[in-house]
Amino acid sequence: MAKKKAVKKTAAKKTSTPKISGKHVYLFGKNTDGNGSMKPLLGGKGANLAEMCRIGLPVPPGFTITTEVCTYYYAHKRTYPSALQGQVKTGLAAIEQQTKKKFGDLKDPLLVSVRSGARDSMPGMMDTILNLGLNDQTVEALGTKTGNARFAWDCYRRFVQMYGDVVLGVQKSAGEDHEPFETVIERLKHERYHQDIEDTKLTVDDLKELVVRFKALVKERAGKEFPSSPWEQLMGAVGAVFGSWMNDRAIVYRRKYNIPSEWGTAVNVQAMVYGNTGDKSGSGVAFTRNPANGNKEFYGEFLINAQGEDVVAGVRTPEPVIDLKKHLPDAYKELERIRQTLERHFKDVQDFEFTIEDGVVYMLQTRNGKRTAMAALKFSIDMHKEKLIDWKTAIMRNPADQFEQLLAPVFDAAEVKKARAIATGLPAGPGAASGKIYLNADRAVTAAEKGEKVLLVRIETSPEDLRGMIAAEGILTARGGVSSHAALVARQMGKVCVCGAAAVEVDYQARRVQVDGQTFNEGDWMSIDGTVGKVYAGQVKTAPSEIVAGLIHGDATAKKTEKFRNYQQLMKWCDQATKMLVRTNADTPEQTENAIAFGAVGIGLCRTEHMFFEGDRIDAMREMILAETVEERKKALAKLLPYQREDFAGIFRALKGYPATIRFLDPPLHEFLPHTPDQQKDLAKKLGVAVERIHSRVEQLHEFNPMLGFRGCRLGIGYPEISEMQARAVFEAAALVQKEGIKVDPEIMIPLVGFKKELDLQVDVVHQAARDVQAEKKVKLKYLVGTMIEIPRGALTADEIAQTAEFFSFGTNDLTQTGLGMSRDDSGSFLPVYTELEIVTKNPFATIDQTGVGQLVEIAVQRGRATRPDIKLGICGEHGGDPASIQFFGKVALNYVSCSPFRVPVARLAAAQAAISG
Ligand code: PEP
Ligand code: MG
Repeated sequence: MAKKKAVKKTAAKKTSTPKISGKHVYLFGKNTDGNGSMKPLLGGKGANLAEMCRIGLPVPPGFTITTEVCTYYYAHKRTYPSALQGQVKTGLAAIEQQTKKKFGDLKDPLLVSVRSGARDSMPGMMDTILNLGLNDQTVEALGTKTGNARFAWDCYRRFVQMYGDVVLGVQKSAGEDHEPFETVIERLKHERYHQDIEDTKLTVDDLKELVVRFKALVKERAGKEFPSSPWEQLMGAVGAVFGSWMNDRAIVYRRKYNIPSEWGTAVNVQAMVYGNTGDKSGSGVAFTRNPANGNKEFYGEFLINAQGEDVVAGVRTPEPVIDLKKHLPDAYKELERIRQTLERHFKDVQDFEFTIEDGVVYMLQTRNGKRTAMAALKFSIDMHKEKLIDWKTAIMRNPADQFEQLLAPVFDAAEVKKARAIATGLPAGPGAASGKIYLNADRAVTAAEKGEKVLLVRIETSPEDLRGMIAAEGILTARGGVSSHAALVARQMGKVCVCGAAAVEVDYQARRVQVDGQTFNEGDWMSIDGTVGKVYAGQVKTAPSEIVAGLIHGDATAKKTEKFRNYQQLMKWCDQATKMLVRTNADTPEQTENAIAFGAVGIGLCRTEHMFFEGDRIDAMREMILAETVEERKKALAKLLPYQREDFAGIFRALKGYPATIRFLDPPLHEFLPHTPDQQKDLAKKLGVAVERIHSRVEQLHEFNPMLGFRGCRLGIGYPEISEMQARAVFEAAALVQKEGIKVDPEIMIPLVGFKKELDLQVDVVHQAARDVQAEKKVKLKYLVGTMIEIPRGALTADEIAQTAEFFSFGTNDLTQTGLGMSRDDSGSFLPVYTELEIVTKNPFATIDQTGVGQLVEIAVQRGRATRPDIKLGICGEHGGDPASIQFFGKVALNYVSCSPFRVPVARLAAAQAAISG
């Protein structure tokens, strides 16, 4: 045996006792300690606030408490490092010095915001507190100093509300449909005005009364007085932000996006600027380009006389940012300048928050904007044209795990003309979705689990709705703008979304929706078009995307669209960059043609057993299985041979010279037999045999662990005539098609090999068939014989197996099953718990377990290459279409990945990205 090299581990190791430096607080403002590259330590928000200060953008001063403190906090029973308090005090002093205000001062009090900020942004997942530092005295001082008592009291009631919710935990309890503070506001409005007036219409007296009632609510629900000391408020808020890292919705979010809990969050404390001082003030959220469709236009929204939370909460529907031109032209001009500066500096589309205080613009945050796959594609091509980025960066700008969205269906043009549009809203997540409506996340999840297509309909969404949003095909909200929670989250998940469809009246209690004079109960169908923002009654049929229409159906109009052309450009670049080829798993000529249209360069896995189910060939297959002698079996196999030959010929023709890896019969034979008495009776009649014979053969073939039983190469070893027939069918088809003038490149693959001898025995059969057919047909055929590496013994003895095998293809489905000792069919019963407990971070049958199964792959690669340096290496398990797994296969330098036809574009992109990122 060749000397085994040590295996290098590629998986990252966790550090269990994190080290913490002595510096816990980083300033930004006049003196800035951090910069944009420090996201792991300062979080995305903190790092970019520092970076914006460095490039001269108007940022209110503040400081960032590092993510290390968060990690420390959880590792030390929710306590802080001893130096933290002193450093926070120094940070506050720096803010005081720059703003010339004092924290808790009775003349000109400094108020601060306290916000979370993880390394990767987690929109809406964690908590924010604004206007901190107010109490019964400082509110008066703020009113006097600004000459605006209404503003001061508005800040105060907001503060008590937010602090009460986030820090003191006064939240919606089970059975409540509304936030308790909102209920208090509504009650007061009705008592005093007998209607639902806007918040901006509340008077000083109303606001004072609200503060009193809010505090009473806090006392009642939290069982303690609202804290009046600004310092106590500040430390409470810091603790709440760290605490929110472990709240339920943050955990769900991290799980979905694979954010490790060890990262922790930073806390940003920043001087308040006020968007609620009057009509020359406001708050907004904007994108430097349109994140839904990718257009180069200033996109976003604002609310006059409002603080930032109002914009994202979806309580008031904001106005498009371009309308600021009319309201506050100078501020708009300044924002345009900032928009250009941001793109030039960050060289990517930015999503930023701003506040205008008495006409002056301040920046509160910037980050790379979340975008739909469609927008990502357009941004990448446009920014390359504008020379902001090079072509390799353009490839990296397309998230591979959301690329499938581009192939998602749109509404069928003819069907949608017939459909009745019942409402319009904002187009917040492109694509078409039809589903049964549900008005609550839990019920949406339950329905989706039952296999229903679900449309989640809400007045507005909040982070608690996350599970429902994940389960739904699409999301429809009645309130909220394009940067509302629903829009933001939908965009990121690639969900179809229409938001702010005001005509949709949602009645949570009655579980029904009224719109356009029509009533829809939960379970009724509705459809939404998130590209244009339309809502339709009933179910509307969908049609393929332009890319699919252009590539697969050859639709000339589709080929002219910008989306199609951009896609082609990107794929051209991917081919330039990639080191790994992409093949497809296909069993029919049609699947093969589709995959080639998507850019596959061969078949990586043709599962021949799939061919036995079509038409009446299953009868011949069953006859073969029921055969009691070799002669009988050969007779049945002879019936199957022409079918197989025809299938292979069709595939060779469709491939036009590309290679085809054809795998011999793999599943246990019982899978082909009928199991119910009625089906067995029918078969007995058809084949003219006694039903008992079928029944007893089924009994005979019964296995306790069929996945580990009589399957794979064991079948061909037990019944060599099966392999002989399959080899003959391949070579006869090859001879036929080659004579038609089409190049053929068959690669015969033996499954489930663990011993070299298994492969040797099967290879002998294959070579004999090749010799026979070549002599009979008087042709010379080129072919390879190789094996799947899909059980650990095969991987560990790859050096021996490579003496015979001319190629390996990793069957990572079985390799995962056998490597982890987890049934690929039965693991569904415990994997959810495993994911929840973070025993596994991702489903190992979808994304390769790099640490464990990955090692088996690496061992097999090294040992296989040691024996046969030019051995062809590929992967054909489901992981071949998964971007994170492809990244790993790129690292171990496989020659190709193979995946289902519709995942070929994703795989090409991921393979190119793997090559670029090394
Ligand atoms: C595999 O095991 O990864 C594989 C591709 O084979 P199958 O899924 O057919 O067992
Ligand atoms: Mg397998």
